[in-house]
Amino acid sequence: MGSVADYKLEDFQTFYNLINNELTTTTRTRHATNPSTNTPLPAVPVSTSEDVDRAVAAAQAAFPAWRDLTQNDRAAYLLRFADAIQANKEGFAKLLGEETGKPPQSAAVEVWLIEDHIRGTVVHRLTEEVIEDTDEKRFILRHVPLGVGAGIIPWNFPMTLGVVKLCSALLAGNTFIWKPSPYTPNTALKLGELGARIFPAGVLNVLSGEEDLGPWLTAHPGIAKISFTGSVATGKKVMQACAATLKRVTLELGGNDAAIVYPDVDLATVVPKIVFNALVNSGQVCIAIKRVYVHEQIYDAFLAAMMAFVQTMKVGPSDDPTTVLGPVQNSMHAIPADKLSFKPDATTKTDAGFFLPPTIIDNPPDDSQIVADEQFGLIVSLLKWSDEEDVLRRVNATLFGLGGSVWSKDVQRAEKMARRMEAGTVWVNTHLECGANGSYAGHKNSGIGAECGLLSIKEWCNLQGVYVRKD
Ligand code: NAD
Repeated sequence: MGSVADYKLEDFQTFYNLINNELTTTTRTRHATNPSTNTPLPAVPVSTSEDVDRAVAAAQAAFPAWRDLTQNDRAAYLLRFADAIQANKEGFAKLLGEETGKPPQSAAVEVWLIEDHIRGTVVHRLTEEVIEDTDEKRFILRHVPLGVGAGIIPWNFPMTLGVVKLCSALLAGNTFIWKPSPYTPNTALKLGELGARIFPAGVLNVLSGEEDLGPWLTAHPGIAKISFTGSVATGKKVMQACAATLKRVTLELGGNDAAIVYPDVDLATVVPKIVFNALVNSGQVCIAIKRVYVHEQIYDAFLAAMMAFVQTMKVGPSDDPTTVLGPVQNSMHAIPADKLSFKPDATTKTDAGFFLPPTIIDNPPDDSQIVADEQFGLIVSLLKWSDEEDVLRRVNATLFGLGGSVWSKDVQRAEKMARRMEAGTVWVNTHLECGANGSYAGHKNSGIGAECGLLSIKEWCNLQGVYVRKD
């Protein structure tokens, strides 16, 4: 292993696949789009199925030696990776801003987050459970890695969501192939290039490509597990494809998080927090608040305070340090103006980029699409409630089950209510707060399996019983 100085990347303009620690090119290339300017980003590889075969073969070859290292040794490699990310944080934050539209402070937070996540995750250790240990026999349960894993990643947190998967996979002793979204391939490829300076050949591989790349991975017999983060529709296809080779799957899918606001809240404190948790990352967060159920006694005052606060949030391009809300990442998620039932604010900067005005929908019907479906942009619905049981029913009347929150000065009552929400993570007087020590799992259509924490490391393993007769 080299010193941290050896990890400083000079160039954030040229991009390669990483296969067996070799930076490789492809005959065809493509480019993603800078959503702030609608201009092309630097070219990236378009992987072929032969590239997938080579990456799988490299990851398979690397697996036995990586598996046989101690957990401490693997953790040490991952910590070097965190150091290397830290050494390049400015370059990564700039690149991340260019590919996602995140304003400078948000991009810097995501780069810090991945470094912090690695440092927080590598403290976990898989331990053996002694079921029975007598003079005659010993029976233990242990977790052993699966082999080659692949992570299929969306575009909204292109660095975090990939690092979260690779960190658990590698720490457990698996080798890994990272497939970024075609919308945001650049940061992942650069992280791969950095990883080549740290990990043994074949342990980490990164392939960029087009929409056929994901299906090649899910079909590949040499891959033991797919960890997928993305939409419900694609998640179903991934699970179906994985069935053919009985791959393990973790699915982290869409959400439609609700917040229930009681009449006793302090509006000056709570409104900015709720707006932040709804609109951060321009609303493109799986666990953003998407439906705010406000008690009728304070509804009008809440709406007025929300509108006033939203107007203080500047929408702008990713290279402007005063921007609070960047563009949405791609035109697919920018709702065409003729589909909007309101007029966008004329002062919103649009230029050529994919900009949306932050929008609050005032008490839409429960069966309207904005309430029933996952929306992924600068929009949040405000809904009125008066009866506790009824609002709980409305909140739970969805196929999504990712997160939810309850806001009240009466913390006990709020927690009681939160525990009755049908969602994988429920918060009281906050939302979206996560850390590397916890695990996160979607209920219902929001997913299968858990991400982060010790639980996710176990999900990158097979269970093995070791039964030893001593007599
Ligand atoms: P998406 O489902 O369109 O794409 C996700 C990834 O899957 C991309 O890399 C894409 O190239 C790949 N893909 C597409 N078709 C595939 C196929 N048939 N087989 C294998 N891979 C395929 O999702 P998106 O638009 O990139 O991301 C937004 C979605 O992700 C939202 O629904 C959001 O809620 C969800 N998301 C969930 C979480 C979570 O933790 N639950 C986190 C972030 C985003």
